[in-house]
Amino acid sequence: MAFQSTVCPHDCPSTCALEVDVLDTHRIGAVRGAADNTYTAGVICAKVARYAERQHHPDRLTHPLIRTGPKGGGAFRRASWDEALDLVAARFQDIAARHGPAAVWPYYFAGTMGLVQRDGINRLRHAMRYSRQHNTICSTVCESGWMAGVGRYGGPDPREMADADLVVMWGGNPVSTQVNVMTHVTRARKARGAQLVVVDPYRSPTAAAADLHIAPRPGTDAALACAVMHVAFRDGHADRAYMAQYADCPDRLEAHLRSRTPEWAAAITGLTAAEIESFARLYCTTERAFIRIGYGFARSRNGAVAMHAVTCLPTVTGKWRHPGAGAFWNNRGTGIYHWDKTLIEGLDIRDPTTRVMDMSRIGAVLTGDPAELGDGPPVHALLVQNTNPAVVAPDSNRVRQGLLRDDLFTVVHEQFMTETAQLADVVLPATTFLEHDDLYGAGGHTHLQVGRTLVEPPGECRSNHEVIGALATRLGAQHPGFAMTALEMVDATLRASGWPGAAAVIAARWIDAADPFARSHFLDGFGHPGGRFRFAPDWAAIGPHHAGMPALPDQWAATDEATADHPFRLVAAPARNFLNTTFTETPGSRRREGRPTALLHPDDAAGLGVGDGDPVRLGNTRGEVLVHARIATGMQPGVVVVESVWPNKDFGDGIGINALTSDAPAAPNGGAVFHDTAVWIKAEPTALLAS
Ligand code: SF4
Repeated sequence: MAFQSTVCPHDCPSTCALEVDVLDTHRIGAVRGAADNTYTAGVICAKVARYAERQHHPDRLTHPLIRTGPKGGGAFRRASWDEALDLVAARFQDIAARHGPAAVWPYYFAGTMGLVQRDGINRLRHAMRYSRQHNTICSTVCESGWMAGVGRYGGPDPREMADADLVVMWGGNPVSTQVNVMTHVTRARKARGAQLVVVDPYRSPTAAAADLHIAPRPGTDAALACAVMHVAFRDGHADRAYMAQYADCPDRLEAHLRSRTPEWAAAITGLTAAEIESFARLYCTTERAFIRIGYGFARSRNGAVAMHAVTCLPTVTGKWRHPGAGAFWNNRGTGIYHWDKTLIEGLDIRDPTTRVMDMSRIGAVLTGDPAELGDGPPVHALLVQNTNPAVVAPDSNRVRQGLLRDDLFTVVHEQFMTETAQLADVVLPATTFLEHDDLYGAGGHTHLQVGRTLVEPPGECRSNHEVIGALATRLGAQHPGFAMTALEMVDATLRASGWPGAAAVIAARWIDAADPFARSHFLDGFGHPGGRFRFAPDWAAIGPHHAGMPALPDQWAATDEATADHPFRLVAAPARNFLNTTFTETPGSRRREGRPTALLHPDDAAGLGVGDGDPVRLGNTRGEVLVHARIATGMQPGVVVVESVWPNKDFGDGIGINALTSDAPAAPNGGAVFHDTAVWIKAEPTALLAS
């Protein structure tokens, strides 16, 4: 055997082109990045380079399981696939007959980013008229903010970062979460002497590698962006000719920003006016300034407003039109890939009247919150694929309370016995990306790829596609997609989307779907009518939660602000060696991460009487968590950072970080607000935590 091509399926914008050393029909060795892919460029993260640890982990689920003891007690017995699937189908049919099909809620997310294995669950949902899911847990706030101004997905090719003289990484930490960004930044630094500026409330590994780290208080990014635009107008860097052609109301914006001075922003962000002036001057005077927009700063109640404000920067300064300049967030499937997912998702049989519920509010849904259930029935059955809501969803104490309901029948199809699977009635073993076929676009670059089956799965693991098809047969669901193989779905979806078929893509290894320069830089106009960028968004057209949103880019006081009772602002940032809860099971990742840790400013630690390594308790009205403290510089007093998503069981009390985060829907269209949390912190008087 030899190195075989495939694609990283994980929830990461890099979607690396991989080469896997296939040792035999069941085993892999090394995993490396494809050197000849112009985005991956031979670089992948360490957690996937160690993928053999995960692939051949002794804790992989290998057989269907049926619960035998009390819910959550961990007692299961082995079952055959027929017994398990017959039970699931019978319970779903019974629940639908008694409560209506809306009482069944298929629930999924991005544990794999492959279109067939991730999104096929929607085909079963639509065929059976089960409740729908508003997919808010990751991108919705960013989408709202991006679309508010830009009006369509896409943007400058991320490889153009190598052609920039300044890269501003705003609200992201690619060293930990999409390492390939750094490849292209490094090229710019070497070839052009480019500078890297990182805007992040704490000194992340990317911030530590930057030429300049700007650390605003969490939730104040819009104030910083407004002050930069103020300087642009004040000092003659605004590109008035560009705005006259490409923007909706530059005069109104200029008048509005007159009072948004660096001093004004300093009082909000906690930065100094001199820092803001200096950053604004650097940005405004650098023609090739590329803003790489991350997700972090948008995970806030005012995140869409902040995202929109950041996208206004290259519009005010006219930078969109230059090579190596502009702003890029994500290509999305409806952007450069123009996926037609009718076959995969059964969009042709979707009933638009079926109930839609917010996936970030799964705790509210499962505990019967009428605001989420609407006039539909309580949820009595869950089918979970590709996600671990007991740990990753906000307000996790409430999620667990819901999952423990005795009148809830939960099916979890997983690779490992996650904490959600432990709360299930039926657990089904799932394949990894090396054991099934799938189709991938990429949020963070422009290639589309097909991943093939490279090895046999252990035990009796089945792919998501196979399980959805087997349930469809038992439930009598009708759609042509249920009878097709995954590769046939890949082929048909490619062709329906205007691309060559699967065989051609596999032979080529990838297709570069990049838009031409004029389109990716919006020289042909932005996505709104008239081709104009909107400084004044139509928030009401984007989502229902638009009340009070500012008419123009501005700081919006909608966040969970620190108070006397909750004086700290918590950022639940991603850990470098985990990807949400994926890889929390691999020894290499666990060893490198150490243990759940709260990063505290030295002044705060002193005020709390906490030393490095001491146990501390963080809490708010939703819950409490117990972790070790680490004293850290590179952030403002009053900010606390807990990198995660560690499993609940790794925390002192067995309760994970999302016990503290809120499931409040971000404006205007929902979205999880993971980095918008006020907490108290107390020194834990006794050393309750193991080291
Ligand atoms: S950087 Fe992202 S896409 Fe690349 S191998 Fe790691 S997790 Fe996968």
